[in-house]
Amino acid sequence: MTSQEIKAIAKQLGADICGIGSIDRWEGAPLQMDPRQIMPKAKSVIALGFRVLRGSLRGIEEGTFFSNYSAMGYGGITYLYMPMTVINLSKIIEDEGYEAVPMGHQSDWRAIDNKGFLKKNWSRPVAPGKAAPDVMVSMRIAGFLCGLGEIGYSKMLLTPEFGPRLRIGIIITEMELEPDPIMKPGTLCNKCMACVRECPGGCIPADKTVKAHIGGYDLEWADVDMSKCADVFRGAEKLPDGETGDYIEGSTKYKASSFSPFYKKPKVLYNSGQAICGARGCTRACMVSLEARGVLKNKFESPFRTQKQWTVDWSEEGIERCKPDYTPPYAKPAKDRDDAD
Ligand code: SF4
Ligand code: SF4
Repeated sequence: MTSQEIKAIAKQLGADICGIGSIDRWEGAPLQMDPRQIMPKAKSVIALGFRVLRGSLRGIEEGTFFSNYSAMGYGGITYLYMPMTVINLSKIIEDEGYEAVPMGHQSDWRAIDNKGFLKKNWSRPVAPGKAAPDVMVSMRIAGFLCGLGEIGYSKMLLTPEFGPRLRIGIIITEMELEPDPIMKPGTLCNKCMACVRECPGGCIPADKTVKAHIGGYDLEWADVDMSKCADVFRGAEKLPDGETGDYIEGSTKYKASSFSPFYKKPKVLYNSGQAICGARGCTRACMVSLEARGVLKNKFESPFRTQKQWTVDWSEEGIERCKPDYTPPYAKPAKDRDDAD
């Protein structure tokens, strides 16, 4: 099969974009992140990109409908749509006689933490020299090495089609395929720093970066505070010692932040979907910036942002000022309803 045929099938199966990287591009990858630890005879990695619909972010932008991004734009793509696509494409590759490993975001079992260190008492290598289970192949770096886009300052993969509005799945395969060129860093990210300014937790620092040499390029992105992001993206604000709150079930350390309208964090959707912040900085601000510059291929008739961004005032006055003002129409006695029969 040719790379063109693989890409055409990937799109028929539901991917929005597809790129291919030769396995040698992972030369020098950390042991725990090297796809060759999973498939020693791998020749290629195929990266499939799945757009997050701009409409899935609309309800959070308006402050009225939060579940759609977590369900349809995040967890649903990650745990439902993407696996079906990468599994079905892997079947076609295996029918040709080449082994294929379909992968989405299977990071729950990974041996390393958010900072890249081995988790304590998690797992052991099965033999000397092997990685500890599970290896975690970085999806965004795979996207970069397969030519889908570049790593922006926010650490998000930015693509010419959708900017940061994307989830990535990959297939590691023994099939040798013609690789795509790697995107030159700086093609899309102009260091506008909108992601830094608008991240509600200040998790994307302007002055602290990570540098890496990947795919022949010197890359630099913000040293994103992932522990803080883990709280803030759920709409949680950590309380000072001595104060207690009940925003997160099972913990007394959090209250609702000014970026969450919920008294308590709603339940997780599709295993990982709980993004109350709606990726305000790393995705929405970046997308607004890229769209304003006209550099994205997925164009829209109207701009995404049409109003000042909201914050929730959790003070007593704020709660009083924004009291719900709604009565269900059928809760009124029929005689008082103007639509009554
Ligand atoms: S918001 Fe600006 S600086 Fe941040 S990743 Fe996007 S383009 Fe780069
Ligand atoms: S998900 Fe939210 S809190 Fe985390 S980096 Fe993005 S904007 Fe900041």
